Amino acid sequence: MTTRDNVLDVFVVGGGVNGCGIARDAVGRGYSVMLAEMGDLASGTSSAATKLVHGGLRYLEYYEFRLVREALAEREVLWSMAPHIIWPLRFVLPHHKGLRPAWLLRLGLFIYDYIGTRKLLPPTKTLDLRASPLGKPLKDGYATAFEYSDCWVDDARLVVLTARDAADKGAVIATRTKVVSATREDGIWVIKLQNIDSKVRATVRARLLVNAAGPWVDSVLREAMGQNDAHNVRLVKGSHLVVRKLYDHDRAYFFQNKDGRIIFAIPYERDFTLIGTTDLDYSGDPRGITISEDETTYLLAVASEYFERPVTAADVAWSYAGVRPLYDDHASKAQEATRDYVLTVEGDRASGAVVNVFGGKLTTHRRLSESVLEKIESVIGAKGKSWTAGSKLPGGEFDPRGFDAQVDALNQRYPALADRLLRRLCRQYGTRADKVLGTAKRMEELGEMFGADLSAREVDYLIAEEWARTADDVLWRRTKLGLRVSAGDRARLDTYIQNRLSKGR
Ligand code: FAD
Repeated sequence: MTTRDNVLDVFVVGGGVNGCGIARDAVGRGYSVMLAEMGDLASGTSSAATKLVHGGLRYLEYYEFRLVREALAEREVLWSMAPHIIWPLRFVLPHHKGLRPAWLLRLGLFIYDYIGTRKLLPPTKTLDLRASPLGKPLKDGYATAFEYSDCWVDDARLVVLTARDAADKGAVIATRTKVVSATREDGIWVIKLQNIDSKVRATVRARLLVNAAGPWVDSVLREAMGQNDAHNVRLVKGSHLVVRKLYDHDRAYFFQNKDGRIIFAIPYERDFTLIGTTDLDYSGDPRGITISEDETTYLLAVASEYFERPVTAADVAWSYAGVRPLYDDHASKAQEATRDYVLTVEGDRASGAVVNVFGGKLTTHRRLSESVLEKIESVIGAKGKSWTAGSKLPGGEFDPRGFDAQVDALNQRYPALADRLLRRLCRQYGTRADKVLGTAKRMEELGEMFGADLSAREVDYLIAEEWARTADDVLWRRTKLGLRVSAGDRARLDTYIQNRLSKGR
């Protein structure tokens, strides 16, 4: 990274999807950029999502047409940008007697099909659940359903690959680094950082600050920037259950509930089904939150209203919870608060400016980043043009419909390695799977194994290329192998990582 007078153009607070998206876009245009993330990349809200790249069918009920149109168009843009971690998913929405009428669902889906750009994703169709195999896992009373398109995304990997691309283009990505203060001196930001492990402090200077701290955006304004009365964000908790696989096909279900809310049941990590989510106002520390008993009961009850076999606590393998950092538009109910993003700019070129990011979804992070770049340009001057539409994330350099061909080709290059491993590596690393495997042609050449085909070689790659520093980084964010790895293997993995890191110091 080269900077004029040791002053960066842009400093980004927060390594979630929005911070990383902004850093990537900015460095790709030629700005000098640094990003600081106080924990692991995606350790905030960006790994706790339902993991859909979607228009948000239910937002139509709240007349969020701008957001839905933008999000719908992003589905194919993002799918093409990272076809290893993003792929199409069809949703089955059963009509439920006494809830929204069938004509209203069909009308909503008609709008959904036509207000956003859609070239590859198939349109909505009507299903007779009594005849279709997709009706089989459901109770008998459901007759009609609508099947429509959205996409699935590995949320945490989207963040890490975005950060990887930003770093490949010259951005400095500092994880485990907290922004403790940001003050202005003669129009330049003086930003004090602290490493959360070593407690070592450092100071950097930047012309412009982007506050993309998600649920902590107000905390950054209050604690690091001295704005004691900042209150712009409404935290809305959402929790998910991962249960053992409830059915055998590859579609997701969209279930309406009597309280007007909806929940999804989605095929997850081959052997599981993901059920979520909830919408509850939240106050307190957004870190380390967990699902409550009431939320578990709620999600199990809504799912059991539809599935023939009741879904019970005994089916639950794992759960996770996060908070949506929504812009506080003073809506009365949490589920009604706007899902659209809001950007504010304080200060100017002479005094030093900060762009605050409120709200935003995984789906719209690329467009949000473009909007932030417009603000950056207006304050510190333009460099380069928008470039991320049509770009590729690391590993995504193949045709969006060519995933199976990628797996076949990898199988041919590594015939002695297990197909299941190669398929997983293709999903996670795409065309970079070869870089992970290197010269290892047999399973024994992959080094120590930590369960679920996770090898020392892959862990080394994650440390070197993807900022992994703990077992949780590897097991829950770089991969989802935490679902399959035993406590003993996890402890062995942690020791291995710590040894590796201390050797590198
Ligand atoms: P975050 O991911 O929280 O990132 C902010 C980061 O800033 C954190 O990692 C934090 O550690 C860091 N930070 C904070 N303070 C500091 C500091 N002082 N110094 C350094 N770093 C700091 N969107 C979709 O598109 N599809 C979905 O299906 C979907 N489902 C969702 C379901 C739920 C339950 C939730 C909660 C959200 C969902 N979303 C979905 C929305 C989406 O996940 C979020 O809007 C998005 O991840 C927010 O990203 P972010 O970068 O703004 O925040």
